[in-house]
Amino acid sequence: MIRTFRYRIKDSSAAPQLTKLAQACSLVWNFCNESQEHALRWNQQWPTYQDLCKLTAGSSKELGLHSQTVQAVCEQYETRRKQFKKRKLRWRGKRSPGWIPFKASGIKIMDDTVCYAGHTFRFWNSRELPGPVKCGSFSQDSRQRWYVNFVVEVPETEATTGTKHIGIDLGLKTLATCSDGRKIEAPRWYRNQQRRIAEHQRKKRSRQARNLQAKIAHRRKDFLHKESDRLTKECELIVIGDVCSSKLTKTNMAKSVNDAGWAMFKTLLSYKAIARKVVYREVSERLSTQTCSGCSAIGGPKGREGLGVREWVCGECNAVHDRDVNAAMNILRMGHHTLALK
Ligand SMILES: [Zn+2]
Repeated sequence: MIRTFRYRIKDSSAAPQLTKLAQACSLVWNFCNESQEHALRWNQQWPTYQDLCKLTAGSSKELGLHSQTVQAVCEQYETRRKQFKKRKLRWRGKRSPGWIPFKASGIKIMDDTVCYAGHTFRFWNSRELPGPVKCGSFSQDSRQRWYVNFVVEVPETEATTGTKHIGIDLGLKTLATCSDGRKIEAPRWYRNQQRRIAEHQRKKRSRQARNLQAKIAHRRKDFLHKESDRLTKECELIVIGDVCSSKLTKTNMAKSVNDAGWAMFKTLLSYKAIARKVVYREVSERLSTQTCSGCSAIGGPKGREGLGVREWVCGECNAVHDRDVNAAMNILRMGHHTLALK
């Protein structure tokens, strides 16, 4: 399995050097763009990666880059061009976030320093690399901070030892409710901080606004990682309702949905489930709130008007239901049902 490990560059004094190297990379990128335009006009041919390498050969010394960096830029250029199926890609200018790719042989790592093309950069060595580096890059985020990324081959994740079967109901009030009664609370930082972001924007403090936004995104992702980790370690079957968040974002519940980050939660769950060999199913959540999980009678709260109803009593069997737990139990039952059909 290939994974990328990212470390923040320590000294702010390294920034000018990195920026200079990144500008050299942009130069190579723009040269590729130009060569492509030229080639298309005069030869009616798309230059390949090999063509681009030939054209840029020998330029690395003058640019102060490692020769493999120049090749890596060419490679990336070709990949992107194929991906977007465009005659030309966007130029890299002063505003493009800095990016300097490298191959393993182009760098040397010692404790918390990385040597590249005669420069030494220190980084915050927050966690150990689990294996040898294959390749990587220096990159800049939207806040103009520099990072070094190492691409590493890591051993496969161990299969789950969990035995739980869990159904998950995604909601607005709580991010997710599990069929065993556990509730995963939706973090509301975004909405709480929304006013602060708006204030920053109003006062034209775009840097602060961006910082705050990045912080919220980071915390939300961290939270979702932890929750999906825990679930995939505990379970051998996870069934989730196929709620379509794009539909709800159009209503006035948009902020709440964005807050919860359902889509990201589902993505994380599904890929971690695959890695840990957990059975993961999505089922239609139609009627899951209205059906009694005890006797299958339909009598629960309906639609969006019923959102306020948190608890209800089944008219047939008199069972008292928590709205979301009942829905999660129905989702789990539907999951079992679809698995049995197969
Ligand atoms: Zn009932």
